[in-house]
Amino acid sequence: MIKTNMAYYRLDEAIAICKPTEHVLACDTTKGNGMVGKKFFICPNLWTQLGDSTFNRLVRENGPHFYEILQPDRATRIFMDIETTNGVYERVKAGVDVLVKMIKMWMVHKEIPDVQPLHVLDSSNAKKCSFHIVGGPLLTNPYHVGALVRRLTCFIYSARYEETATPFDFETLFDNDGNYIVDEQIYTLNRQFRLSKMSKIGSDRTLNGCTTLESVLQNVEPSFVEGVDCLEIDDSTPSSTSKKATDLFSKVDDGWVRVAGVAMTMSKTKASLPQSLCKMRIWLDSWMGHGRITGCSFDILRGTYLLNTTCKKCWISNRMHKSNHTWLVINPWQRECIQKCFDENCARQHYVIPVPPDYWSTWAAYMDKDVDIGRC
Ligand SMILES: [Zn+2]
Repeated sequence: MIKTNMAYYRLDEAIAICKPTEHVLACDTTKGNGMVGKKFFICPNLWTQLGDSTFNRLVRENGPHFYEILQPDRATRIFMDIETTNGVYERVKAGVDVLVKMIKMWMVHKEIPDVQPLHVLDSSNAKKCSFHIVGGPLLTNPYHVGALVRRLTCFIYSARYEETATPFDFETLFDNDGNYIVDEQIYTLNRQFRLSKMSKIGSDRTLNGCTTLESVLQNVEPSFVEGVDCLEIDDSTPSSTSKKATDLFSKVDDGWVRVAGVAMTMSKTKASLPQSLCKMRIWLDSWMGHGRITGCSFDILRGTYLLNTTCKKCWISNRMHKSNHTWLVINPWQRECIQKCFDENCARQHYVIPVPPDYWSTWAAYMDKDVDIGRC
C-alpha cells in the first residue's frame, strides 16, 4: 500500500523508502513551540496524474510551502539562487539576465540543444531581492550543476578584473557592498530547493515565474534520462561542496587550478604544465644532468605539479642510483621546486632545487591573460 499521506520527520527515513519513480518533498511546518520545522513526504512522479493529484492534496492539507529534495544520484536541471538585501531591484534583475545568457552560451559551447526553457522566478519584496533560475538541460546530478555555477563564477571574476570588453555587465552581479549575489553554497547532498508558487511558512514572498511542475528539477523513472556532464574547471568530477568557486580555484595562466582540498580519491590527474612553467621545465631538464622529464601530473589536493623523470642522479643521497628514478615536484604557490626519490633510503626526504628566481616571474604575472567561456 502506498502511504502518500505519511509524513516523515527525518529526511533519511523518507529517502530510504523513496523509489526511483518517486520524489521526496519537504514542507515547512510549525512545531508546538512555534518554531518552524520540516516534514517530508514521498510523492509519485509529478508528471503523472497520480503524482499531480497527490501533490495538490498535500498542498491543500499542509499549505503552499513545498520544496524538492535534490537527491545525489539523479539527473538535475539547472538551479541557481540569487539574493541580496543590499541591492537595487532593477540591477539585480539585470544580473539574473546576465546569468541566463551565460548559461545559454555554455549550452551553445557544449552543443546542448536548447529545448527546456530556463525560468526566472522572482520572490522579491521591498526588503529583499530574491530570484531563482530553474530549468534548462538535465545535468548528471546536482553536483554537476554546482560545477557549472562555479565555472560561471570563475569566468565572472576573471572577466571583472580584465580590461577586455565583454557583452555583459558583470557588476550587476555584485551588491552595493561589492558582495557576489549568487549563492554558491547550495550544491550539497540532499539540498532542498523551493518549488514555484511556494513560499516559506510565515513569509509572503511566493516564488513566481512558472508553474510548480515546470520548476521540478529532477526527473524520475520511467522517463529518467541521463544528464550531461559539467566537470569542474580543472576537469575533476564534482562532488558535494558548499565552498565558493574562488575558494576552490585560482586562475593560473590560461586555466584554473584547484587550491582547496577535495575528496581523497582521484587526487592526481594527468596534466600539462601551464605555459609560464615551460621555461622552468627546460631549465630543470638540464639541471638534472641525467635522464629527462617524461610526464606531468597535477596533484589537485596540493595544487602541485609532479614531473616523472628517467633521472637517477639523486641530490638527496648525492649519488647516482643504480635503478631508482627521481621525480620532481613544482609547487608554484610556495615558489618551490624539489627533487624526490624512489630509493627507500631517500623516500622521506627531498632536495630543494635552486631554481633561479626569474623562472617564477612569468608565473607571478598570471592574471593578465584572457579567458574564454569555453574553458570556464
Ligand atoms: Zn635517492
